[in-house]
Amino acid sequence: MKKQRKGTICVQGGWKPGKGEPRQLPVYQSTTFKYETSEQMANLFDLKEAGYFYTRLQNPTNDAVAAKICELEGGAAAMLTSSGQAANFYAIFNICSTGDHFVCASAIYGGTYNLFAVTLKKLGIEVTFVDQDASEEEIARAFKPNTKAVFGESIANPAMKVLDIEKFARLAHNHGVPLIVDNTFPTPINCTPFDWGADIVTHSTTKYMDGHATAVGGAIVDSGNFDWMAPEHAAKFPGLTTPDESYHGLTYATAFGKGAYITKATVQLMRDLGAIQSPQNAFLVNLGLETLHLRMERHCANAQRVAEFLQSRPEVAWVHYPGLTGDKYYDLAAKYMPNGTCGVLTFGLKGGRDKSVAFMDNLRFVSIVTHVADARSCVLHPASHTHRQLSDTQLFEAGVSPDLIRFSVGIEDVDDIIEDLTQAFVTFNR
Ligand code: PLP
Repeated sequence: MKKQRKGTICVQGGWKPGKGEPRQLPVYQSTTFKYETSEQMANLFDLKEAGYFYTRLQNPTNDAVAAKICELEGGAAAMLTSSGQAANFYAIFNICSTGDHFVCASAIYGGTYNLFAVTLKKLGIEVTFVDQDASEEEIARAFKPNTKAVFGESIANPAMKVLDIEKFARLAHNHGVPLIVDNTFPTPINCTPFDWGADIVTHSTTKYMDGHATAVGGAIVDSGNFDWMAPEHAAKFPGLTTPDESYHGLTYATAFGKGAYITKATVQLMRDLGAIQSPQNAFLVNLGLETLHLRMERHCANAQRVAEFLQSRPEVAWVHYPGLTGDKYYDLAAKYMPNGTCGVLTFGLKGGRDKSVAFMDNLRFVSIVTHVADARSCVLHPASHTHRQLSDTQLFEAGVSPDLIRFSVGIEDVDDIIEDLTQAFVTFNR
């Protein structure tokens, strides 16, 4: 069948019911699956046949939703995880083990920063953070003989820096390793990193994909383009290119081709660590995905208006939104996300940190929540909240200034959002 457009995939992708089957994706609320013979089940355990046996590894509801996300990203294989954190952990841990190293853009979500800098360090995996806007020559200096991957966010949360995906893909490939891109903020509606050379994409589906703040979840998608078995790669990735003793000596890259990376993450990491998304949450994410294309358009249009409004206010010191002409990342956004970026923007008020915090308290329906990227407008002060554990130097590296307010512009009527901001400025100026 001809490849469908993204709006159609959002609505119709993934679950393809046969005759007499439910039109809406069923929730397979079952931990286990029935077989006729012991041998049938044994074949599943040996990975000789594909099939479901236990929801800690795989579930049909999850797989239908992963298939939809995979199609939206233009990937070869995908899986859901219990959270975006789990997705990023698995994405790295699937190819890095003790003694390995990876390179990461320093402007990333604070939780991912902690995961990489603190928790992975305890597992003996080392990360070098790089300024993503530095020259290729400078970034290349961060690579070591034991480097196994490169990681960045297509739009950094909350720094709003747009990743030069082609530059990072070139750097990764010149060093024989894959590029992993967390594509949570633009979503595949606005950016498809595989088109620009990225090899693996991750998501916090908790954000725009769910879109209604109902379900924490994550996803990993593999493009299938990185050739693990290529002579210059194979020795770097023994987990994929040499026999796995826990599966009777099966080698993922030869047995599963373009599905190798996701198969390994499923049958090894999910089996052993179990960070599976609940089928009920996957169902909710699927409902969100059905309108993702419509919501992203509205999020972007509203954010553009709000960014322009904030820029016009005398109280505002600065606004960062890649859709604004003159923004440092405008050109990169125009290249990688020509139809829009996302609904998140950041700004700071004259008077610094205390003024920014006080202003947030004046807002009425634009509420203070930890969340970002759902239908309701909300704000957060990262230096006091999500990035609280980071030192001033780490905050600076992550692109978070002390006065930064992160504004997640929702899909309400934009005139009401601007009215709420206006009344907050009036109170603020009293
Ligand atoms: N990646 C990005 C870009 C995020 O913004 C977040 C959370 O805010 C995560 C990953 C982690 O996702 P989750 O909260 O679903 O674990």
